[in-house]
Amino acid sequence: MIRIQQIGALKNALNKERASNKSIGFVPTMGALHEGHLELIRKAVSENDICICSIFVNPIQFNNKEDLEKYPRDLQSDCDKLQKAGCQMVFIPEVSEMYPEPDLAQFDFGQLDKILEGEFRPGHFNGVAIVVKKLFEIVRPDYAYFGEKDFQQLAIINRLVEMEKIPVQIIPCPTIRENDGLAMSSRNMRLTKKERAIAPQIYRSLISIKQSFNGENAAEIIQKTIQNLSKIEGLKVEYLTIVNNKTLLPFDPQNTIKDDSVALIAAFLGNVRLIDNIKLD
Ligand code: AMP
Repeated sequence: MIRIQQIGALKNALNKERASNKSIGFVPTMGALHEGHLELIRKAVSENDICICSIFVNPIQFNNKEDLEKYPRDLQSDCDKLQKAGCQMVFIPEVSEMYPEPDLAQFDFGQLDKILEGEFRPGHFNGVAIVVKKLFEIVRPDYAYFGEKDFQQLAIINRLVEMEKIPVQIIPCPTIRENDGLAMSSRNMRLTKKERAIAPQIYRSLISIKQSFNGENAAEIIQKTIQNLSKIEGLKVEYLTIVNNKTLLPFDPQNTIKDDSVALIAAFLGNVRLIDNIKLD
């Protein structure tokens, strides 16, 4: 596996591959790789001639300084995992390489980046869009792989590609979970033993929503589930909602059928913020 830090060197390496008509699959990440990331990598490896992964902790998508500072980093272990998964190239730029000067682009995603995560993390999706657009321009992938774990992020990326007419196909990938159902996340390693023990309740609550949702009772089951979760000591729900899976606007039986809806949750365990979702089809 080739490791590259400079944009120019990466472009040269990829141009050579493109010249011999090789397809390029791209997996952008922030590192601290786990099985969730590695599933994306394996899919990109199996569906393309070249798989390239980027590892870049993008400072402008963090609206919480402590979250950025505490973001786990373990480059050597990440590279070992990528190599084992069959990845051919890894791009590991410095912040100064990606942002020689501040990027002040402002994207207009309408409501999509103001609700849910956007409401609690202002500016987050603009920062994500800036870095993903930049990475797409550098890598020019044929296919780019994103996890459904970050459901709203996936919707934003699809909108970005459409708005900016970026010639890439976005491939959504299912959420990979621990055996007890907890969605894998780089943040899980910051959970204390006690928090880790209660964390699977998040997914359990989503499963129970899926079981009892009949396409009409959204408000009642959300209220009941929030009530139940609030009884768990150490867990604080930031939002829990059922939305249309395209617009991410609140479920409205007049406009959305049950099969087109998804339940989304964000919750704090201590000071670790976790998100998860379940499709209600
Ligand atoms: P991150 O490093 O958190 O920016 O994530 C990089 C990519 O991996 C994003 O497309 C995420 O949605 C995806 N991802 C993270 N965790 C999981 C998971 N548990 N299952 C599937 N994809 C994931």
